[in-house]
Amino acid sequence: MNRLTEAYTRGESAEPLLRLTVHGLLARTVERHGAREALVVRHQGIRWSYYDLARAVDDLAAGLLALGLQKGDRIGIWSPNRAEWVVAQFATARIGLILVNINPAYRIAELEFALNKVQAKALIVAPRFKTSDYLGMLLELAPDLAEGDPGALHLKRLPHLRCIVRLGEEKTPGMVNYDAVLRLAGPAQRARLDQIAAGLDPDEAINIQFTSGTTGLPKGATLTHYNIVNNGYFTARCMKLSERDRLCIPVPLYHCFGMVLSNLACVSHGACMVFPGEGFDAKDVLEAVQAERCTALHGVPTMFIAELDHPDFGSYDLSSLRTGIMAGAPCPIEVMKRVVRDMGMREVTIAYGMTETSPVSFQSGVDDPLERRVATVGRIHPHVEVKIVGERGETLRPGEKGELCTRGYSVMRGYWDEPGKTAEAVDAAGWMHTGDLAVLDEEGYCNIVGRVKDMVIRGGENLFPREIEEYLFRHPNVQDVQVFGIPDAKYGEELCAWIVPKPGSQPTEEDIRGFCRGQIAHQKIPRYIRFVDAFPVTVTGKAQKFMMRKAMVEELGLREAATA
Ligand code: AMP
Repeated sequence: MNRLTEAYTRGESAEPLLRLTVHGLLARTVERHGAREALVVRHQGIRWSYYDLARAVDDLAAGLLALGLQKGDRIGIWSPNRAEWVVAQFATARIGLILVNINPAYRIAELEFALNKVQAKALIVAPRFKTSDYLGMLLELAPDLAEGDPGALHLKRLPHLRCIVRLGEEKTPGMVNYDAVLRLAGPAQRARLDQIAAGLDPDEAINIQFTSGTTGLPKGATLTHYNIVNNGYFTARCMKLSERDRLCIPVPLYHCFGMVLSNLACVSHGACMVFPGEGFDAKDVLEAVQAERCTALHGVPTMFIAELDHPDFGSYDLSSLRTGIMAGAPCPIEVMKRVVRDMGMREVTIAYGMTETSPVSFQSGVDDPLERRVATVGRIHPHVEVKIVGERGETLRPGEKGELCTRGYSVMRGYWDEPGKTAEAVDAAGWMHTGDLAVLDEEGYCNIVGRVKDMVIRGGENLFPREIEEYLFRHPNVQDVQVFGIPDAKYGEELCAWIVPKPGSQPTEEDIRGFCRGQIAHQKIPRYIRFVDAFPVTVTGKAQKFMMRKAMVEELGLREAATA
């Protein structure tokens, strides 16, 4: 093996990138594996072959044409995981509509911002999800919907929107029902489908994913067919996915983990997509894996933790599991080990990436040594380049910490209608600056050590929360932990740990500090420790450190004020 001499690596591959559109990818699989099971949606009682999926896709695509939508138009989708989401993903791509993923947790102002930002002409909407009454919010945003002409809307606060396609059977004034759209097209629209598909170019934008951004307004990462088809394909290759695999998908479809690493990965290889529920629920996942004999399972670390710690975990037969992906946030070594040992996922991989890079740029291979597989995010993805840079933009050496930059086919087209923000993120040489701190070793394995802005500078010393979290995870009573910095008058910043204890245990601050003393440097022992039932998380399940920081600042500020 060639050892790296600088912190730069490129994914060599004998396999060329696919020059296919999203529809081209589906069509290829329908031809090869049409009769195989494609989609199981347990909460909707759906079990479809690839032929069935392709039929539903054609019905919806033709219906959307009948509604007057044209290539290049933006169409939002605001729905939890449902079969219609999968159909919409492929139906919009079939006719070149740009699908805009709307976060299921958005509220009125965010929805208004996203739809207007991309000038969406249509929206597919589920009636509700958990505590979110989507129809109620839409009516509040656009009370003029009630008198609107479905298909030809003119709404005051959503001036570009012409049409709302509503899932479910009930009717809502101003909206068309999804099932009606499936039946809307005549032979003329159907005849146009293949003609339109043949005119699409893999380099055209096909998807806008709003990044969750912890500060500022969300930005719409704009991705092409080429971006996501290839990322889905090569991610599947790293897992050795084939038409014999059945992937359990509890991650949300609106995020690239769902629509690319799950759906496109499966479709690229004829594997079956299994959805355990509308949103994440550990029991639903365990039941789905057992009942559907899933061979693969995806999740962010918190999902795997919830499954492993479910009180009935031991009663499920998970012996069909082989592989899957843990990604989206730092994947603790201890959790990875349990996934291999207790879930039997002997070929589980870790992937690292971000929405703006379609998303994956590192992934462990199923044959990497276990130690590497649980402790690193693996090696560079095929055809992708990565370098680690220092504060002056210089490329560092293996073993040195710096910002990870990615270049290649996977880098987004840009943020929609935000040339300034795009130029801040992607430099003139095409490098996407990820804002993640990483270390590349001489063999090309990568470790993500945190976010550039999560790094804590305590008394001039750089501390990396990730490293401290990994250590605290070894404590027998720690189920989950987040470490972050908070302002401090003396040191500039101080460390704080929020800990979710294992069920039934009651660790104390002193237990935790005692566990650290003599084992890790004293300045890495969190000054503040809090025990909580759960962390504030995004819909994707990512812990929101900025919320925890805010809560601590308030708590400590209040206490100081009270003492004074
Ligand atoms: P998103 O664009 O929502 O997919 O978020 C991307 C961010 O998630 C990255 O910039 C990383 O900070 C984080 N992330 C994703 N995968 C991993 C991983 N395997 N390990 C550590 N952080 C990760």
